[in-house]
Amino acid sequence: MTEDCIFCKIAKGEATASVVYEDRDVIAFLDINPLEEGHTLVIPKKHFVDIWDIDPDTLARVTAVTKQVAHKMAEVLDAQGINTFSASGKPAGQDVFHFHMHVIPLAAGGRTKFSEWWRSSMRRAERPELESLAEKLSL
Ligand SMILES: [Zn+2]
Repeated sequence: MTEDCIFCKIAKGEATASVVYEDRDVIAFLDINPLEEGHTLVIPKKHFVDIWDIDPDTLARVTAVTKQVAHKMAEVLDAQGINTFSASGKPAGQDVFHFHMHVIPLAAGGRTKFSEWWRSSMRRAERPELESLAEKLSL
């Protein structure tokens, strides 16, 4: 645990959160600053900073709970769409440096600000640029 980490405090029950799921390794709770009604955060109980820090098994557990949360949102909020994402690092907009997955439900007829921003920000890449990057990023 990192002493001043609010998510570690929530994981230990030392800070208030509206919890929707909890097991030994993972806890999910409603975001205090929701983008949409029902916006949920899924986090590992153990402190990991970001995508570079978290171990693959814990990430898999977080992802499995994310899927369960998405199904519940479809069932009880009639969510017709879900955005899931995680921000790692300040340039990505990470503000709490304890890994967390956002799960954002979208009601029928709605469209998130997130998806509107995405559509207005995307551009068409050229094939040579993609080939060059694919070579660099090849695992
Ligand atoms: Zn933490």
